[in-house]
Amino acid sequence: MSAGANLRTTAAALPGGFRAEPRTILPGATIGVLGGGQLGRMMALAGSAMGYRFVALDPTPDAPCGQVADQIVAAYDDVEAARELARRADVITYEFENVDADVAALLEAEAYVPQGSALLRTTQHRLREKRAVEAAGARVAPYAEIRSLGDLREAAGRFGFPCVLKTATGGYDGKGQWVIRSEAEIEPAYDALSRAKTELVLEQFIRFDKELSVIAARSPRGEIRTFPAAENVHVENILHLSIVPARVPEAVRREAEELAVRIAEGLNVVGLIAVEMFWSAEQGLFVNELAPRPHNSGHYTMDACRTSQFEQHVRAICNLPLGDPALLTPVVMVNVLGRHLEPVIARFAQPDEAAARLRVKPSLHLYGKRDAAPKRKMGHVNVLASSVEDALAWMDETKIWKV
Ligand code: AMP
Repeated sequence: MSAGANLRTTAAALPGGFRAEPRTILPGATIGVLGGGQLGRMMALAGSAMGYRFVALDPTPDAPCGQVADQIVAAYDDVEAARELARRADVITYEFENVDADVAALLEAEAYVPQGSALLRTTQHRLREKRAVEAAGARVAPYAEIRSLGDLREAAGRFGFPCVLKTATGGYDGKGQWVIRSEAEIEPAYDALSRAKTELVLEQFIRFDKELSVIAARSPRGEIRTFPAAENVHVENILHLSIVPARVPEAVRREAEELAVRIAEGLNVVGLIAVEMFWSAEQGLFVNELAPRPHNSGHYTMDACRTSQFEQHVRAICNLPLGDPALLTPVVMVNVLGRHLEPVIARFAQPDEAAARLRVKPSLHLYGKRDAAPKRKMGHVNVLASSVEDALAWMDETKIWKV
């Protein structure tokens, strides 16, 4: 039996996959990306500047990443297309977490996937994720696995109202969850979410003062660096602002960054891991969710840090020394949704008196998406300023984000 066949057997036999021996991937090599959205695009832009080539697999022709890299147009569960990606790339990464299990197994067997698929398996499932976070020594909101209406009644009785019912898989941007506010909502919430045919989890509602996130990078050689904690503001369950430095006590920022290091180590991460948290002044920090990839709440790093999250991700998967994540300036990142696109483009086409007066530097990043649906993420603006208050004042004066 050849060594290659051996590897394939091992990959199939081990639950959660295996991880190949670390390799150092030098500039000139090709990085294959599963997914061709904005995260892949910004990864390719950063990595191209470093001398790498990129090929993305995405079903939408002319996807955001395909506009700045090569693209294989095919469905995410198309095994033949995954095989072509494996053939063309020296290293493979992904820009979303719902990678098809068969495709992940094939890629691990036929290509070099330094991040492995074990972490994907963990973060694809809220219950597995919570257990892994706890095992790494971090705290999550009290939760219960829900298998029946009876389980839900019992757990809601224990946690009190409100409490949050979530599907274990498939939810994002607030989809697949229901904040249960009273006894009367238990049954409708259960009926609605159990239609998703996945396990359910009930969480105690945390009366948080702030939502924070920290992005950590870990390389196969075990080096770990964290970006400064971001304070995140969501509107209609979609990220609206990331404010850095986060407006919480310095000790909380430090603790949040330490938690991210513990998780990156405990989960044996390679590449980036975004750790979303709740902070309550009374109760401290709780980890809410993980994302094993570049994250919207890390877009501020593109203009405000010595190294961007995208460059850091490329460095980590290629086993290069990690870059310095230090913050150079206070910053507010604001997302540009479809409904903001026209006014934002108009604003940036004219001299900006408010920016000059407030001495802020708003930097616009657009993703090249054609269909500007009202809630679709089309781009973001990083507002660099001498204080986050000045950056917020500029946003206030533009009036674009008031709608
Ligand atoms: P998620 O999909 O888990 O990131 O949840 C989306 C948003 O819902 C979070 O960013 C919070 O604003 C809110 N949320 C989710 N779970 C809880 C919870 N246990 N307590 C309070 N708010 C929550």
